[in-house]
Amino acid sequence: MSDVILRNVNKIYPNGVQAVFDFNIEIEHGEFIVLAGPSGCGKSTTLRMIAGLEEISSGDLIINGKRVNDVAPRDRDIAMVFQNYALYAHMTVYQNLAFSLTIRKVDSDEIHVRVMKAAEILGLTPYLNRKPKQLSGGQRQRVAVGRSIVRNPVVFLFDEPLSNLDAKLRGTMRKEIMLLHKRLNSTFVYVTHDQIEALTLADRIVVMADGRVQQIASPKEMFDCPVNLFVAGFIGTPPMNFYNGEITPDGYFLHIDGTKIKLNDTQREALFDKGYAGKRVVMASRPDYVFVDDAMLSENVDSTIQIDVDYTEFLGAYSLIYGMFGGENIIAKINDRFDTSNRQIKACFEMKKVHFYDVDSTNVIV
Ligand code: ADP
Repeated sequence: MSDVILRNVNKIYPNGVQAVFDFNIEIEHGEFIVLAGPSGCGKSTTLRMIAGLEEISSGDLIINGKRVNDVAPRDRDIAMVFQNYALYAHMTVYQNLAFSLTIRKVDSDEIHVRVMKAAEILGLTPYLNRKPKQLSGGQRQRVAVGRSIVRNPVVFLFDEPLSNLDAKLRGTMRKEIMLLHKRLNSTFVYVTHDQIEALTLADRIVVMADGRVQQIASPKEMFDCPVNLFVAGFIGTPPMNFYNGEITPDGYFLHIDGTKIKLNDTQREALFDKGYAGKRVVMASRPDYVFVDDAMLSENVDSTIQIDVDYTEFLGAYSLIYGMFGGENIIAKINDRFDTSNRQIKACFEMKKVHFYDVDSTNVIV
């Protein structure tokens, strides 16, 4: 059984703004779902509807087999982990963890068992008698998470929990959240605008834009096969390269600068079958699959292009070459240092990693 189901969920705010359009997903028990997308795309609204902090305008929200549209947040079997954790300063860690159960009049033996288990999961056992001010920032955050854990919710909800942290702490906390998910074996729904967090944490990513779900897929699938130009541009750093041109009747992609790139059999068949011969398309390739080394160039003569190099960045394990391909930006990611003195270079594509998109619908063709 799915832990959380959203069926045709819409959200229209009282001022008439529709923030979410027809959202559908079935979230399995133990899944880590990340809602990702740029600011204003409707991801927090979706999370807050699951939490019960925003009313659902239409559609169904089912948690643990029960329709909960009209159930109060505290009765929903969910726990929301907020960015700013307000701990009770005068209480010990133990009392902070026990508090929500005490006010719910849970039996004290049961409270003790749950608090000790949460403390063990979070590595807080040695600190149970300390007050919050005697803890580090990271430990305090763990106490806040512990207050959710003791309630045994079906679903944990996270709204951009790492966005206020510096890059290094963000990396550490990302690891903690990943480990927490493993240890708890519960369902997580996590909102972020950061596609790296989405790729590293999620079992499945939901990419949203303008209130609409664009694609729901595993990180690998989303990276390898973005369904439209929006997802292609959103997921992955450095971003996907896009090239404008048209499909020629003899089986080439003719770039706007006149360069001809030969389609492979799969691409030619798909593009011809769908009527794209003679039509404009967008070709897309990740920087990871633009090559400049001699071995790849000799293997891919039919997909060789000329790049005017603007500058390069050396990043230790790899380098990025930034340049222009016939008036369009192109980035190549290569595993070596690169000699910047060479202003015009040859590069090639690994065609099986190249995608084609419809210019009007922006949807993937092949
Ligand atoms: P995200 O979390 O992806 O940044 P939100 O869900 O916060 O996006 O917002 C989605 C859209 O709904 C935005 O256009 C935003 O301005 C609008 N919105 C959010 N909250 C309200 C509100 N309380 N009243 C009216 N419009 C809102």
